[in-house]
Amino acid sequence: MTAQMPPAHPFDDDKLREECGVFGVVGVKDAANFVALGLHALQHRGQEAGGIVSHDPEQGFNSARRFGYVRDNFTKQSLMETLPGPLAIGHVRYSTAGSKGNTAIRDVQPFFGEFSMGGAAIAHNGNLTNANSLRRELIERGSIFQSSSDSECIIHLMARSLQQNVPERIKDALRRVEGAFSVVAMTRTKLIGVRDPLGVRPLVIGRIGEDGWVLSSETCALDIIGAEFIRDVDPGEMVVIEHGLLKSHRPFEPAKPRFCIFEQVYFSRPDSILMGRSVYETRRQIGIELARESAVDADIVCPVPDSGTPAAIGFSHESGIPYGMGIIRNQYMGRTFIEPTEQIRNMGVRLKLNVNRALIKGKRVILVDDSVVRGTTSRKIKDMILDAGAAEVHFRIASPPTAWPCFYGVDTPDRDKLLAARMSEDEMRDYLGVDSLKFISLDGLYRAAGEAEGRSKSCPQFCDACFSGEYPVEPRDMVEKGFQLKAAE
Ligand code: SF4
Repeated sequence: MTAQMPPAHPFDDDKLREECGVFGVVGVKDAANFVALGLHALQHRGQEAGGIVSHDPEQGFNSARRFGYVRDNFTKQSLMETLPGPLAIGHVRYSTAGSKGNTAIRDVQPFFGEFSMGGAAIAHNGNLTNANSLRRELIERGSIFQSSSDSECIIHLMARSLQQNVPERIKDALRRVEGAFSVVAMTRTKLIGVRDPLGVRPLVIGRIGEDGWVLSSETCALDIIGAEFIRDVDPGEMVVIEHGLLKSHRPFEPAKPRFCIFEQVYFSRPDSILMGRSVYETRRQIGIELARESAVDADIVCPVPDSGTPAAIGFSHESGIPYGMGIIRNQYMGRTFIEPTEQIRNMGVRLKLNVNRALIKGKRVILVDDSVVRGTTSRKIKDMILDAGAAEVHFRIASPPTAWPCFYGVDTPDRDKLLAARMSEDEMRDYLGVDSLKFISLDGLYRAAGEAEGRSKSCPQFCDACFSGEYPVEPRDMVEKGFQLKAAE
């Protein structure tokens, strides 16, 4: 029987889910220990499962893949001793393709392949938009898939390449795939990182000690191991690190970068640096823009914790309305109730969030949240605030209406489940039952992210498809399945 694990957060069904996190280290003693720490810092990007592959010159490749949190698995000495060597990569996963929400251990990365020139392991953050057609083609030509993950296509494409070394085979494979990918890979001696030509998902380079190098989804994971942030891997760049030296390759046709703007709003940790900018500062700026665009008379500005906090601070600063912690998050919710009873399930969001009654009572409250997906949690939060005696509730949302699904490595509900795909802003306000509801405009979001002119139609700087419906890479598999793209204007 295949081991399976329930979803990590049974009550948290009203957020877009972060995709995955990748991390790799070379040139340090017991690299797997550093990878475990890095993955722990990237845990917000995936909580279902994690895996590490290491290489030791005497003991060869070793791997461990486990369900659950990094801290519950990769802190055990008995396990870490099985992952020796100066080179290791790892992955944390929330399933976005494959057995969604119901991960099997065979879907847990890194994946490993034994080639004629030696073994290689690969970990992928993102989602391939032509994985179905590639999979069909590869199976017809004799490939035997072990998992339901789109990322396994990369290993099979590498196996079919006629190139004589692993980096060249990775290039061959990645030239065949479409969509979003930030890949960390390793051979016996090399640590390799690649970003797709548009650079949709992040990947950064760090240094540790005299000879050590690090690749990570986010800079916050460099900090935890004391590594120095060097730079982003550029969109379309492959870096190959061996014997303490980094070489840069450009395997793809140049393209205009389209970094995921939702990383700025929600996915990345606020203590990370994205594209040279502090995520915290961008989110605070979003709050400032939001206050300029949608001012309202009120007594207090409260974040929906934790992701709404920097924007609420910015909103308060710009509007002059005092900031307060009107909602308190229970930090220890975790996976305490993996299989909740009906009674516990009915408590829903109250298990995770509680209203600070003394602060809220009789006040006109501005609630700042990062996004509205289905709207179910927003309604419950509004009920809690009104039950606590608030006089008015005004929702201010730090992203534009999420009206389109993401096909680039973020788990989004089907389009007909997205509130903004079904309703106008006024209809959403009535459905949520709040006194007012305003979203930041796409232009305002771009300004907050450092694009002073806002979003220019001719040259958008980010991927913003979940707001605009304009997909920078056609979601080919989904179109084949009948997904309706937005009609050209
Ligand atoms: S569709 Fe949205 S979540 Fe997906 S990559 Fe683009 S901006 Fe990010």
